[in-house]
Amino acid sequence: MITVNQVFRNVCRTSRCIIANRKYSEQSQETPFSLELSDTQKEFRDLARKFAREEIVPVAAEYDRTGEYPWDIIKKAHSVGLLNGHIPEHCGGMNMSVMDGCLVAEELGYGCTGIKTALEASGLGQMPVIIGGNKEQQKKYLGRLIDEPLVAAYGVTEPGAGSDVNALKTKAVKKGDEYIINGQKMWITNGGVANWYFVLARTDLDPKAPASKAFTGFIVDADTPGLTPGRKELNMGQKASDTRGITFEDVRVPKENVLTGEGQGFKIAMLTFDKTRPPVAAGAVGLAQRAMDEAAKYSLERKAFGVPIAHHQAVAFMLADMAIGIEAARLTYMKAAFEVDQGRRNSYYASISKAYAADVANKCATDAVQIFGGNGFNTEYPVEKLMRDAKIYQIYEGTAQIQRMIISRAIIDNAKQNM
Ligand SMILES: Cc1cc2nc3c(=O)[nH]c(=O)nc-3n(C[C@H](O)[C@H](O)[C@H](O)COP(=O)(O)OP(=O)(O)OC[C@H]3O[C@@H](n4cnc5c(N)ncnc54)[C@H](O)[C@@H]3O)c2cc1C
Repeated sequence: MITVNQVFRNVCRTSRCIIANRKYSEQSQETPFSLELSDTQKEFRDLARKFAREEIVPVAAEYDRTGEYPWDIIKKAHSVGLLNGHIPEHCGGMNMSVMDGCLVAEELGYGCTGIKTALEASGLGQMPVIIGGNKEQQKKYLGRLIDEPLVAAYGVTEPGAGSDVNALKTKAVKKGDEYIINGQKMWITNGGVANWYFVLARTDLDPKAPASKAFTGFIVDADTPGLTPGRKELNMGQKASDTRGITFEDVRVPKENVLTGEGQGFKIAMLTFDKTRPPVAAGAVGLAQRAMDEAAKYSLERKAFGVPIAHHQAVAFMLADMAIGIEAARLTYMKAAFEVDQGRRNSYYASISKAYAADVANKCATDAVQIFGGNGFNTEYPVEKLMRDAKIYQIYEGTAQIQRMIISRAIIDNAKQNM
């Protein structure tokens, strides 16, 4: 059986990764890493694959064209159990592992990453409640999503602050048993359709307060007076997904909706990414796989200079490079998911996976367009959509640069400790 040391040596051959390997080899004595999926995991994956091929692929182009929110797919996914699998059992969920979620995410991403983002962003909104919510909050807000095909959203980014979370300006001021929220959020996926939001707001108004103490996480019902979603943004890709700004004007939230406690919001918001970045990476792998499959098929159908273009080495090698990227990126999300499922901090691996899979998806989609030639540039063929859809993977849930900051900081911290 392949060990994670072998896996990781294959994935990242740079000397910097020796640090990661050394760390893992200490851990691996506790729990062996296996690439073998359990029967249940295979079932989840097969169900998601069937769902993506039968329910998503045939309608993806139309949703991309209209930008309509895919409610009918959300409802179907909810009815077959492909939404909300990670919700704890005490709220009616299946308590699925991050690895299970990744397997599903890859398949849905293969179908359409716009629709997948609409589904997945609800998981992003829920994760702070799973991490930092008490049993009552979980039962009320997560249980609601089990009972009905509703979605949640994650509200952190603002018009003036994305990567720099510490610069958020939305504030929440305590008045009696309530907090009054004022401010503006931006780029919130599911912003116009969510039933409730996770909202990160500043509760310590001292600008010098450290992020680790200045912010509080709230659950905010969408129908709270003063909360107004803006227009649906017209994005380059993933058009089925609903992205909006949200204005908060004297939005009153009961103190019962504070997650964990005042000042704990930043930590909850960041810990969320440890569990959501691996499935985001998995979605990018699904897109990359789709690009390769479409390009391979086309390369056998299209002839140039008397032979299928697959027979030209320059084309065949583009396919080979796609496969190299896809296989390696898949292993990175499995590693990141495995680590967090073992209860270990995985930010380093989650960032590697998110950054790498995003780059692979962009390269595969771009090369697929190249293999399709002029047809690749045209909306009648499937790959131009993949290229537009791929770009956001290098931006949302932490940009490509922010992931590299996290990875490089971990390496440097580790090096300092070993000096
Ligand atoms: C379609 C879409 C969906 C989204 N969904 C959500 C959502 O559901 N919830 C939510 O809260 N947010 C969401 N976002 C926001 C997204 O997470 C942010 O756009 C992202 O984090 C980047 O923030 P920014 O746009 O403010 O860019 P900026 O932070 O302004 O960054 C601009 C550029 O500068 C670079 N940069 C910034 N700081 C550094 C640094 N220190 N070192 C090197 N480079 C740096 C960035 O990498 C980037 O290239 C979404 C965005 C989009 C477009």
